[in-house]
Amino acid sequence: MDERYVRQIILPEIGPQGQERLARAGVLIAGVGGLGSVTALYLAAAGIGHIKIADHDSLEPSNLNRQIIHSEAFLGQPKVISAAIRMKALNPTIRVTPVQTRISSANIDALLDGVDIIVDGSDNYETRQVLNRASLRHGLPFVYAGVRGFDAMVSSFVPGRTACFECIVTGGEAPSGRGPGIVGPAAGMAASFQAMDTLKLILGIGKPLENRMVCIYGLDMRIHCVNLISNPQCKACGKLYNPDKRI
Ligand SMILES: [Zn+2]
Repeated sequence: MDERYVRQIILPEIGPQGQERLARAGVLIAGVGGLGSVTALYLAAAGIGHIKIADHDSLEPSNLNRQIIHSEAFLGQPKVISAAIRMKALNPTIRVTPVQTRISSANIDALLDGVDIIVDGSDNYETRQVLNRASLRHGLPFVYAGVRGFDAMVSSFVPGRTACFECIVTGGEAPSGRGPGIVGPAAGMAASFQAMDTLKLILGIGKPLENRMVCIYGLDMRIHCVNLISNPQCKACGKLYNPDKRI
């Protein structure tokens, strides 16, 4: 047994077979900013066999208050390179594929080759819409998170079992300038929830955030869960637009 994983393998919910499942899994982390920084570290540490990270950005000083996978020495460098080096330093036994690209409907299908779960590390509606539609097309879970200020929300959208991202979130504000204010731990909390749900979905254990959204209000430290239901008129998964879909 790899000593590295002993503290999770001794959990009855995981065991050696669960660790094997993690080693065989492939995850796409769509963006290595505030969310992806933390999910990438936890999923690498947990021994996910193959992690693809996709991001088009280079590291800027204003990223460093929350994007803790990166460090000052990498300013100006592609975030996927900075992140991949850190992930391999943390766990050289896994495969990390950095892809410096802006995720779009033109490249998402190729990015999902060999991927079992999509983890949202993006910061805008358009990218999430691309990820959501790809999740529905390929039947892959989409572990969503959104962060603003001191607050965070997380949900896992699983095709055929739950509402989808576009059932719940409509329209989008285009990010402007530096984007909204945000404190690092808000992204860290959301990303930790995402990493937890990703492990559970791979292992088939516990109750992932299916048809539920965790809302975390950091300033007064309130956390609650709201139930979600599918929108039959959803343009992505709704029966009205997609009569073949049984969601
Ligand atoms: Zn939908």
